[in-house]
Amino acid sequence: MATVSTRAAENDAAALAQDPRVARSLDWLAKNLDWVTGQHVRISEIPAPEFAEGKRAAAYGTLLESCGLKVKTDGTGNVIAERPGATRDDVILIAAHLDTVFPAGTDVRVKRSGRRLEGPGIADNGAGLAAVLAVARALQEARVKTEMTIVFAGDVGEEGEGNLRGIRALVESYGSRLRAVIAVDGAAPEQIGPVLAEHRVIVYELVSESTDLESVFLSLTAPGQGGAATPPGTAPPVPSTGWTESPPP
Ligand SMILES: [Zn+2]
Repeated sequence: MATVSTRAAENDAAALAQDPRVARSLDWLAKNLDWVTGQHVRISEIPAPEFAEGKRAAAYGTLLESCGLKVKTDGTGNVIAERPGATRDDVILIAAHLDTVFPAGTDVRVKRSGRRLEGPGIADNGAGLAAVLAVARALQEARVKTEMTIVFAGDVGEEGEGNLRGIRALVESYGSRLRAVIAVDGAAPEQIGPVLAEHRVIVYELVSESTDLESVFLSLTAPGQGGAATPPGTAPPVPSTGWTESPPP
């Protein structure tokens, strides 16, 4: 059985979207937004101040496990789920940070107002965590086979004093096997693009919301597209869910 290439230079995202397995994944995403939103709320309501991400990390690991992925935690506290491809020598890392800027004791309950969600960290980075989880599950549900191994991760220590220690540890750990890193952070889907390149790794700040899962998915399956937004002519966007970040106390 042919694999869906994540090598991508030769692939074009619009064509990939037509691939029956990719189309199945996108279809799953479109039909399961309520599930994604539910996990988004659930994740956001678990406090995860800097250096105290453990509880959220454990819950996130359970969610990745429920997608049928093997989950481990590294020495830094990152939650990691590897989805083996045809080769384990080439790896794409798609990560969202677990920590928030809100101190312990902050009321992190999410308020719903129609389709609008409000709460501390709901965008940064509940949205990113939900998007990464959704992409993992969509690939699993559609049984998409990839050429490269995909590593889904919830990383610790992104904010402030954390100084990116989680993502640094991941990049260090996968080293020369890394072909791309996609960091999903926040909720401004117009800001998609490479922001940093170091150690042979292109890091994409793929700022996303669950309404933009298709872009995340296509970026993942076609990293050569430079994390481009959904090309014209592909499936219509799913209805928008807005959310508002509460200001820090
Ligand atoms: Zn962030």
